[in-house]
Amino acid sequence: MNKQFFLICTVFLGLAVTGCKHANQRNEKSGTAINSEVAKDSAGVKSSMNTAAQVYAKPEIPVLCYHRITDDRKGDYTVSKATFAAHMKALADSGYHAILPAQLYDYLVYNKALPEKPVMITFDDSRAEHAEIAAPVLEKNGFRGVFFIMTITYNKKNYMTKDQIAGLAKAGHVVGLHSWDHTMVTKYKEAADWQKEAVEPKKKLEQIVGRAVEYWAYPNGVFDHKGAEELSKYFKLSFSLSTKRDSIVPLQTVRRMIVPECSPQRLLKSMRGAFGKKKA
Ligand SMILES: [Zn+2]
Repeated sequence: MNKQFFLICTVFLGLAVTGCKHANQRNEKSGTAINSEVAKDSAGVKSSMNTAAQVYAKPEIPVLCYHRITDDRKGDYTVSKATFAAHMKALADSGYHAILPAQLYDYLVYNKALPEKPVMITFDDSRAEHAEIAAPVLEKNGFRGVFFIMTITYNKKNYMTKDQIAGLAKAGHVVGLHSWDHTMVTKYKEAADWQKEAVEPKKKLEQIVGRAVEYWAYPNGVFDHKGAEELSKYFKLSFSLSTKRDSIVPLQTVRRMIVPECSPQRLLKSMRGAFGKKKA
């Protein structure tokens, strides 16, 4: 479903930023590091906000992206149940701590400290196995994950039910939005498209989980600058795949790594390779 994530995304560097809701982006017109905006972090504490340039300059944190977890098929976006369990055990045994998006946001925007060896573990496409297989394995290892839902799949065969989605939130996982029907952001042309794919599904998902839905994962990982800016009106963070971040809206273009079927050793090595050095 994510064949097109590698498409080169158009990044309009140098465009003046207008109308963004987040203060770090409002500060960005000159590209200079001004740290004067004061807002509240995720814990409600008043704090200075980083500019977009400062956010962009911070070392990236590894964010993993899983899709299918099943023994019934093989493919680029599938890992077996045993492999997934081995990956989680290896991360736990290696001292990794699974962080959640609010922690990543506070790290990027307010320079809050993260636990040692942070990693975020995310899942796209609302498959039933995410609730039935992934969540219990995460919990067994003391981890919590982030589950991005395309809301067209509610209660459909092989996809999570509304109760399962609500159950994830109750168990301490985070539920984010992955659009209504997986249409790529670059295809939203009118206000009505944004309503259909982002605004209305966000509201409905919030009713199901009983809390704010503040994070987005791009369908196919594909974004453009305009779309990333629009998303900043609705979400604190948006997640792409391996595409280079947008330096003007880095909070809306957080990179992730698709995890393939591979040994735990290979996973750990790939994580260091993908996120160990700054991708300019
Ligand atoms: Zn997807």
